[in-house]
Amino acid sequence: MGTAQHTPAKVSARPKAVATTKQKLERLGLVSPHDLILHLPLRYEDETEIMPISSLRPGRSAQIEAMVIRSDASYQPRRQLTAVVQDETGEIGLRWLTFYPNQQQQMQVGRRWRIRGEVRGGLHGYEIIHPKVTVADSPLPAALTPVYPTTDGLSQPSLRKAIGQALERVELNDTLEPALIKRLGLQSFAEAIRTLHAPTPDMDAHALIEHTHPSWLRIKFDELLAQQLSLAAARDARRSLRAKSLKANSKPDSLCARLLKSLPFSLTSAQQRVTNEISADLQREFPMYRLLQGDVGSGKTVVAALAALQAIDAGVQVALMAPTEILAEQHFQKLKMWCEPLGIEVCWLTGSITPKARKIANEAISSGRARLIVGTQALIQDSVEFFDLGLVIVDEQHRFGVAQRLSLSKKGEELEAPRTPAMATTSAGPAMLTAPSISTVPTQQSAASKPTANKDWIPHQLTMSATPIPRTLAMTFYADLEVSSIDTLPPGRTPVVTKLISSARRDQVLGHVAQACAIGQQVYWVCPLVQESESLDLQTAVDTHLALTQALPDYTVGLVHGQLPTAEKAAVMKAFREANINVLVSTTVIEVGVDVPNASLMVIEHAERFGLAQLHQLRGRVGRGVAKSVCVLLYQTPLSMLARERLRAMYETQDGFEIAQRDLDLRGPGELLGSKQSGVTLLRFADLATDSALVVAARETATELRAKAPQIVERHLARWMRGREDFLRS
Ligand code: ADP
Ligand code: MG
Repeated sequence: MGTAQHTPAKVSARPKAVATTKQKLERLGLVSPHDLILHLPLRYEDETEIMPISSLRPGRSAQIEAMVIRSDASYQPRRQLTAVVQDETGEIGLRWLTFYPNQQQQMQVGRRWRIRGEVRGGLHGYEIIHPKVTVADSPLPAALTPVYPTTDGLSQPSLRKAIGQALERVELNDTLEPALIKRLGLQSFAEAIRTLHAPTPDMDAHALIEHTHPSWLRIKFDELLAQQLSLAAARDARRSLRAKSLKANSKPDSLCARLLKSLPFSLTSAQQRVTNEISADLQREFPMYRLLQGDVGSGKTVVAALAALQAIDAGVQVALMAPTEILAEQHFQKLKMWCEPLGIEVCWLTGSITPKARKIANEAISSGRARLIVGTQALIQDSVEFFDLGLVIVDEQHRFGVAQRLSLSKKGEELEAPRTPAMATTSAGPAMLTAPSISTVPTQQSAASKPTANKDWIPHQLTMSATPIPRTLAMTFYADLEVSSIDTLPPGRTPVVTKLISSARRDQVLGHVAQACAIGQQVYWVCPLVQESESLDLQTAVDTHLALTQALPDYTVGLVHGQLPTAEKAAVMKAFREANINVLVSTTVIEVGVDVPNASLMVIEHAERFGLAQLHQLRGRVGRGVAKSVCVLLYQTPLSMLARERLRAMYETQDGFEIAQRDLDLRGPGELLGSKQSGVTLLRFADLATDSALVVAARETATELRAKAPQIVERHLARWMRGREDFLRS
């Protein structure tokens, strides 16, 4: 810049430095003083005490005062400075991997320092790497020292200073009324904020560090309340979108009535209830966003089929999407069996069909001839043009990655209904349902014409999940959805007996398998998913297949895994369904949805490697018929603690909700929802695993405030959503 070179260096340096701190703060999202006051400590350091060296333990932080008794700067084989310091109780090593001359001077023998850092177990006893060294015998802080989340080059002191200034400038008024705060037994916002940023000596240090202090509870409550309020607002906002009202046909020859008549069973009362809930939603003029939850084997498919038939009867197309080809294929077969006798053509579309078949399918879909389309993600990834898509059903939606659920539901709202009627949104993975490629040709137009902006409705959406999630998680993750739950299993099921058997006793298990085959039952033998190596995974399955084929010469042993060509996969599954295969060796491709009622024995190899939710899903493949079913969890010793707890949970309960709760306890919510990056990270302070009571309180308060005090809702959201338009999105 032309003028820059005339500016004296001294003058320009200063504003530049200021700008840098500001920029660094901005990088943390800290723009206004309000942002700063909500930038709460990540943890606290206890610098209030000098600890005797003899009391130090690895992994803990330490603050000691000690004298240097040895010190050595070496440059070979690599540059490092080491020292040993001593107090009355013992000695400990210090080490720097890079160092300045002045640090070397500090470590002159005989000098005494205050030293802080994390203790590690080293080769020659305990040591502290890159300790903080300050003057000994200076006054100790009286209270805990907050440590803030920060970014490169922004030091704790400058962050502390900025926050301290903000605390003086901002009025810490409460968003909630005193009466409510009192009733909930919460601290005031001001007190909570001041305590967390600047604890005083009398405060319970342990509670502050563990986030159980009343000040933390207040902040977590506020955060959860904001989340509940915004999700509820998102749900409301969707009511302003338009969908086609799909009237239920009450005539005795309606498609639904005819399907029900043709079934070999009648609906359970739970199925009946959720069917009614869905039916009522479909008749509304705004889109349904409903989650159908039900444990494995609870009978969700028929409920989905009834929803589809109501929609088809009302004159729109329906798409059903499943996460795996095997499951999609199974749905396709089942729906064909149910729907074709009713005169409804079911269309099949996956990524792996031949170009020719795809062309035919696309034509059937865009001309509107195909009324029910079943498939995988291919349904939305390619430029499939629907003629008049009115209902989207997504099975096993958690498999698409719940992680993106919230972000997608948000996106769906942004895609303004017209041009890209998002086949929208609440459930699937990133490539799905963002769906600018999906377009729905308005009914009144010819199929050949381009979709136009005057298309004014978007499809209803039903998602299904067999992964029961604990109530508190459901409250936060599905707060923007309506939820229907099938809470009882169809009659006549006998609980699956679960056996834990060490793989040393494999032969015994083979005996069980032979017995089951002998009385005409079928068996799954599941091999683990070894994440690091797809091929190793495959190898286990292939080896097992070979071993079982040799061990069971009188029976047919099949093999299915993810890398088989689609047609082959389908053929194997068909053979198993038709009982032409006695024992099916498989990888976890059969994990979700597969329904072969005659299979009554499942052996899970290396059960200790599976997650709890996955084991539950797998076990759900048996116990679907009348025969008494057994699930054998073969494990390899030694077991880790976590693995032991998982197997114990499987042994002790079959209740999906109980299992989900234990999973949450064992793993934490991030992993439970299938991804460490799941929306749980949206919560900065609250922890869904431990703060369930607060979630419930926040949920109730949100309902109350929305009904009675819209101005408080607004105030609260303004505080907590500030600069976080991405709150639901990131
Ligand atoms: P999921 O909820 O796991 O998807 P499915 O829909 O696959 O369960 O149903 C599991 C099995 O139960 C299927 O074989 C299905 O035909 C059967 N089924 C569903 N509803 C009933 C019912 N009301 N009575 C008896 N069997 C049922
Ligand atoms: Mg299912």
